[in-house]
Amino acid sequence: MSKPIQAIRGMNDILPSETAQWQQVEAVLRQTVASYGYSEIRFPIVEFTDLFKRSVGEVTDIVEKEMYTFEDRNGDSLSLRPEGTAVCVRAANQGALLYNQQQRLWYMGPMFRHERPQKGRYRQFHQFGVESYGFAGPDMDAEVIMLSARLWEAFGITEHLRLEINSLGTNEARAEYTVALVAFLEQHKDKLDEDSQRRLGTNPLRILDSKNPDVQALLESAPKLSEHLDEESVQMFEELKARLDAAGIKYVVNERLVRGLDYYNRTVFEWVTESLGSQGTVLAGGRYDGLVEQLGGKATPAVGFAMGIERFVLLLQTLDILKEPTSDADVYLVAAGKAAELKAVEIAEQLRHSAPSLRVVNHCGGGNFKKQMKRADKLGAQVALILGEDEVNNQQVTVKNLKVHGEQQTVAWADVASAVTAIID
Ligand code: ATP
Ligand code: MG
Repeated sequence: MSKPIQAIRGMNDILPSETAQWQQVEAVLRQTVASYGYSEIRFPIVEFTDLFKRSVGEVTDIVEKEMYTFEDRNGDSLSLRPEGTAVCVRAANQGALLYNQQQRLWYMGPMFRHERPQKGRYRQFHQFGVESYGFAGPDMDAEVIMLSARLWEAFGITEHLRLEINSLGTNEARAEYTVALVAFLEQHKDKLDEDSQRRLGTNPLRILDSKNPDVQALLESAPKLSEHLDEESVQMFEELKARLDAAGIKYVVNERLVRGLDYYNRTVFEWVTESLGSQGTVLAGGRYDGLVEQLGGKATPAVGFAMGIERFVLLLQTLDILKEPTSDADVYLVAAGKAAELKAVEIAEQLRHSAPSLRVVNHCGGGNFKKQMKRADKLGAQVALILGEDEVNNQQVTVKNLKVHGEQQTVAWADVASAVTAIID
């Protein structure tokens, strides 16, 4: 026998026992965005590499080392999408949704990053995100944060997540701060690790995000971003905080929260949990007022977030919130003999027609009654419909309640649906 081909490392199958849990989560996501008036947008998985270079940024981890980039047969450089925000802007602009309009959009789907796979970090993972366009004020920042908070509330896990917020100011304020930060860090270069030294020349703000305790200690005495913010950004941040207070949403201001993507300005935020180890950021986002114009559209304010669905599902599993599926069928049809089998298929089709929400499974592959009843049990069916020679001759079906021992009755073909729905409510 030849060796079976394995999946690519970091790209996982989601098997049936888990898809049921994913569907539970997805249903809540859809319901939540609908309740805030957001519309779904779907866009391709592959885009021109330039889209991500020009938005996420040339010197970010994502573009520098995590993208799946390849040459198309006609020589174009394409990339599997590593995130949705840039693609959403591209699609919304191309679809003429942005000019002089306001949009509340959401998306869900796979993203690809060549990272080191570990718990909560994969090479193919899924994001659920919302993006809103045409709203410049902190009321919209507060709205998307409130929407995210509602997701935790829907599962009763609010206490397991912490909201961190920060303001990055305008691009000018951030540039001014970057100069001050670099000047300070240059003086203490010997205390920086290799990664931070490299970032000093490429993406200095990301040093604030360093996990190295020595670097963090050094940053205690570094200039603060908040001291360099422009007046309007300060005002907006205060208003956002007031709105979160009013909505009863707790937060902490984390002055070192900068996010790893270049397009953010002003508000940035993350929801973090302590329950997943080091991959604790479940949802992250912020404002990106410059991106639409940067990608060739007309200047449009924008704010949004993306959630890692794997991390959310992991968190819910860890907290034991998701229900395991208990059965794969409600009704199982058991039949012996050719005529009975044909009639069973017909009855099953009628049932699916009259009660579409019932899960109706026909036994396939023959075998005696005992074997067939075992299958019904295995699938967790609540009702077995049994057809043998006698039933066919009398134009009847035996209806057996599998959850109540010994409860069974024989009904006419025409009464099967009502007999079944009387048992299954
Ligand atoms: P991290 O700091 O964990 O690397 P990030 O800043 O790269 O996250 P974003 O690009 O903002 O993350 O993506 C938003 C969310 O998507 C993250 O908060 C996380 O939940 C999820 N996510 C990002 N990368 C991965 C991955 N490789 N595997 C699984 N989920 C991921
Ligand atoms: Mg990352």
